[in-house]
Amino acid sequence: MRKNVVAGNWKMNTTLQEGVKLATEVNEALKNVDAKCDVVICVPFTHLASVNAVIDPAKLGLGAENCADHVKGAYTGEISAPMVASTGATYVILGHSERRQYYGETSETLKEKVNLALANNLTPIFCIGEVLEQRENGSYLEVVKTQIEEALFDLSAEDFSKLILAYEPVWAIGTGKTATDDQAQEMHAFIRGVIAEKYGKEVADNTSILYGGSCKPSNAKALFAKPDVDGGLIGGAALEAESFMGIVTAF
Ligand code: PEP
Repeated sequence: MRKNVVAGNWKMNTTLQEGVKLATEVNEALKNVDAKCDVVICVPFTHLASVNAVIDPAKLGLGAENCADHVKGAYTGEISAPMVASTGATYVILGHSERRQYYGETSETLKEKVNLALANNLTPIFCIGEVLEQRENGSYLEVVKTQIEEALFDLSAEDFSKLILAYEPVWAIGTGKTATDDQAQEMHAFIRGVIAEKYGKEVADNTSILYGGSCKPSNAKALFAKPDVDGGLIGGAALEAESFMGIVTAF
């Protein structure tokens, strides 16, 4: 059966020292709770190796926030999937709306990134979601279906089963505007249906689909209570151990 997952996305926040402190605090806090979900922190590239050294991998997973669409070579400034894996990280966020919007990521580049992540034993946390206009004009289900089909449906069922999906309505990210639990459930059930059509019910039932977008301790319980919401991808609220743990313990 699918896993519940709460993953933090630190984005471009914290210096190395601040990041190691925050990771240490989350790691300590996890010692005192019986978490009913897998817990992951996705941190800036510069922090990966140092954070890996201070966390217990049995309790806290580590991931990057992106990786390159090439393995190695003349791509100045890029960080490859093998480089990420060599730090000890085992997850990578791919297709975040900020990467799509500000860095021009397309389904074509994301396909490569997913393949390289999987080839290097990284679990992709693959983000999809509509912008406000698409929500308002009613095309949001179709938009998300297309994002999934274009980037992921060339994968074998075996490889698709290794993914975690994160539904992140762009209008809810960092805005304080959360999707209601019913809006999240509608989309998550729809996504599961899209997966079932392509890969069958078993693969669909085993895929963890996280919700992301202004998730916080006060709304996590209601969101996670929905049958197709298997956890959260957490931005702002992951930047303090207390609020992140408030979400982890919402299960
Ligand atoms: C995110 O960027 O993945 C996210 C969910 O951000 P926030 O929680 O701050 O809306």
